[in-house]
Amino acid sequence: MSVLEKNTTSLLGLSKEDLEAFFATAGEKPYRAKQVQEWLYLQRVQDISEMTNLSEPLRNRLSAEFHISDMTHVETKGSEDTTRKFLFRLHDGRYVETVFIPASKGLNGKQSDRKTICVSSQVGCAYGCKFCASGLAGFTRNLTAAEIIGQMMMVEKLTGNSINNIVFMGMGEPLANIKNLIKALEVITSHWGLNIGARHITVSTSGLAPAIKKLAEFPVPIRLAISLHGATDDVRDLIMPVNKKWQIKELFDSLHYWRTFKKQKISLEYILIEGVNDSLEQATILAKRAKGINAKVNLIPYNTVEGLDWARPSEEVCYAFRDIVADAGINTTLRLEKGHDINAACGQLRLKKETAEGIITAPIKTTR
Ligand code: SF4
Repeated sequence: MSVLEKNTTSLLGLSKEDLEAFFATAGEKPYRAKQVQEWLYLQRVQDISEMTNLSEPLRNRLSAEFHISDMTHVETKGSEDTTRKFLFRLHDGRYVETVFIPASKGLNGKQSDRKTICVSSQVGCAYGCKFCASGLAGFTRNLTAAEIIGQMMMVEKLTGNSINNIVFMGMGEPLANIKNLIKALEVITSHWGLNIGARHITVSTSGLAPAIKKLAEFPVPIRLAISLHGATDDVRDLIMPVNKKWQIKELFDSLHYWRTFKKQKISLEYILIEGVNDSLEQATILAKRAKGINAKVNLIPYNTVEGLDWARPSEEVCYAFRDIVADAGINTTLRLEKGHDINAACGQLRLKKETAEGIITAPIKTTR
């Protein structure tokens, strides 16, 4: 019988309190919750029957209501020692993508020990940023906390690596799924959970101002990246439909609020698109905005997406833009490398798979 037929809940998304409440109704002591969490996150068991310090009747009772994970690995793109993209199938036949980025040589030539995972937070996305494949078929559903955590545990199992850096930059707008995002972050950062340092976690958003304020109040020092891509409303409107709802002023008000809770620098992500947002005037305004919130700026020359006419500016224009921002005293990076053969726009692997299986036949109407 499949976990879907059993209609049970995944243990992975549960807090210590959730588990303690279950064991209280079963007439068991609260320490059972800790035992289960050790099996899940330290021992990494795949099945409740392996939790051998619980009695058989208790394991049976737990299995009647819970399972561990129902995510299956379908496909890997990329090879050992390089960036790898994984496609996972979810219990309802939908797909989600996760990218593993292994350690590389840092600027000083030393090997970094950073092992990064780029996780998805939704199936599809309702926000339709004009450079992104994930938005092409619209929004399907939020991922559960268990499905967010499950991506990390699956990648660790498949690669044999311990992840020590997490970026929420995969498919979906994490802040549109803030309830499950916070639940997942609790497990990821807790000493009883995956125990990843909050400073090694970055949540990237297209700019949902009210949710930025809410996440600011989540009491762990995670990092924030903003997909800005336009320094003025008229230019940002062309690229980010979300800007019609929360314009730059409201977005930056929420970033000031964020800074009252968190010390880490905010990153402003800016994809350079020829003739759209790459003018030197935009660079000057971007520098002023970054200075106002003491942010870093990451400049990313555009990578072609099938079906879009936009192009990457020349290297000369990219450098000139970079120099204006950097000369204003802003910590600025420019990533000029091309390619990203497997790591193109997020959501492309899932789109291909769901289209091939007839799950996506036409653009799905967004629900928000
Ligand atoms: S960039 Fe992010 S928010 Fe924008 S459409 Fe893609 S997944 Fe959604």
